[in-house]
Amino acid sequence: MAVWLAGIGVSRGVAIGRVQRILGGDGDIPEYLLGQEEVEPEIERFTAAQKLARDQLREVRKQIPRGLPGEIAAFIDTHLLMLDDRSLKDAVIAIIRQTRINAEVALLRQRDQLIQVFEQMEDPYLRTRKDDVSHVADRILRILIKSEKGMLPKAGATREPQVIVADDLAPADVILMAQQHVVAFITEYGGPLSHTAILARSIGLPGIVGLHGARRLLQEDELLIVDGEPGHALASPDAGALKFYRAKQDQQAATRKALGKLKDKAAVSRDGQKITLLANIELPEDAKHAAKMGAEGVGLYRTEFLYMNREGLPGEEEQYEAYSRVVSSVKGPITIRTLDLGADKQVDSGRAHHGPTPNNPALGLRAIRLCLREPELFRSQVRALLRASAHGNVKIMLPMISSLQEFKQARALMDSARAELVREKKKVGENVEIGAMIEVPAAAISAPILARHAKFFSIGTNDLIQYTLAIDRVDDEVNYLYDPLHPAVLQLIRQTIQAGDHARIPVAMCGEMAGDPRYTRLLLGLGLTEFSMHPAGVLEVKRLIIESDIGQLRTRVAEILDDTDGSRLREDLEALTHA
Ligand code: PEP
Ligand code: MG
Repeated sequence: MAVWLAGIGVSRGVAIGRVQRILGGDGDIPEYLLGQEEVEPEIERFTAAQKLARDQLREVRKQIPRGLPGEIAAFIDTHLLMLDDRSLKDAVIAIIRQTRINAEVALLRQRDQLIQVFEQMEDPYLRTRKDDVSHVADRILRILIKSEKGMLPKAGATREPQVIVADDLAPADVILMAQQHVVAFITEYGGPLSHTAILARSIGLPGIVGLHGARRLLQEDELLIVDGEPGHALASPDAGALKFYRAKQDQQAATRKALGKLKDKAAVSRDGQKITLLANIELPEDAKHAAKMGAEGVGLYRTEFLYMNREGLPGEEEQYEAYSRVVSSVKGPITIRTLDLGADKQVDSGRAHHGPTPNNPALGLRAIRLCLREPELFRSQVRALLRASAHGNVKIMLPMISSLQEFKQARALMDSARAELVREKKKVGENVEIGAMIEVPAAAISAPILARHAKFFSIGTNDLIQYTLAIDRVDDEVNYLYDPLHPAVLQLIRQTIQAGDHARIPVAMCGEMAGDPRYTRLLLGLGLTEFSMHPAGVLEVKRLIIESDIGQLRTRVAEILDDTDGSRLREDLEALTHA
């Protein structure tokens, strides 16, 4: 029987595939005592799972796509060694024998024991190895609870399209999924502004988040239709539904094709104003895709993805090579953001925080704060960026600036890195502009001050909305409050654009709002002239710009925002966005 499910759509597109549930989280682990005669078979079950985990990892190692950093193979080798390590294998077998507990629980106990040992280590690097222990144990665990499918390629398996259904997924998982046969994903938790969702949009992988109970409601291998825009999923569809959604897929392909004709057309409004359309990219290979989708350059390169799915941190040379590759493949300007680790962008090396997980990671040591706390981390990135800037038109942007002092401190570190490179006779780009992201209300409110020092602004609405409205962007429970049309958010955006105009510095927007066609006219009316978005959104926004009269929009938006009554604000803005 067909079953309808609804969650929060985060990435458009219709996909049809077979359900692959990823169980995970200790809550999914069964716990039971074994009879004496069940002990040896249980040990065999554990050993078989451990062997299968090893085979899978070897298979993954063989299939590492070309172009990924060499450390990925080394990272898998470390996990292979850990899988066979006696402190894991023999200890689990001993626990099963001594306590007659099932293999899953024995493994969890040993995992926690090892993690504790690693956590007590003085050396911060060794402490980070506890993540490896978790990953290795979780891999065996998934096999034991028979859920390890889908995320990994299976040798010789028929590659039917798969829809991953998980409790939650990290941005790094999306990168892995993009390399597998995954056509869509559903998670029980998470919000549309999480980095997982952003990444999915950027690579065009349809997805639904916040669909509570999805793994209970969906059967393994069941045929599933995912419609990413409204956030609907239809399990075991009948022939009629399949026909309808296949037609929708065709129609979407036709729309994409029609928009494709705008690719080489300039983004000039009806009243002759030129707007700059740029792309947000996450992975070095996205740069080419961005140009194909009609972007004139890159307005946000999120460098932290270079730090994910790997062991340890990339060094200066590796970063220099990666950035140079991206810079050389982008025709127009490229704005590279310095590391924005922390909050929902943790890395496997655990570098973003060493101590216990903070209660409010979004308000904690993330982004520029982390870089200023760990100047060596920042220095190696800045040196790599400055060297890469010799190959193109590079601007550097600092994330999560909340005060002028922070901006100046970061700039001083960058100046000293530049002086160092010059002394070493390394080539660096001239006049590399340094700008600030405006994504903390404090920065938006003090924009007139920051504008005297920064060479440009880029408004990060994802965080600006999160911090202005005090709602965690990854928490689906409060997601309904996430509102780009909230008057406080609009005032902050307006003030930032005005401060930039006044100081004659360019103001771009690189948050998701810039790529959402529902807000294009509003943003044009607020005076925004540079939009940076996921590449798939560029052409639709371009179509709206070409159809707009910006002069009229500016008058109308000012009227709406200046109406102090405010009770019609939302209606008026929505009417504008549908005009
Ligand atoms: C933002 O906050 O709007 C932004 C672009 O940065 P990120 O989504 O990477 O936090
Ligand atoms: Mg941000």
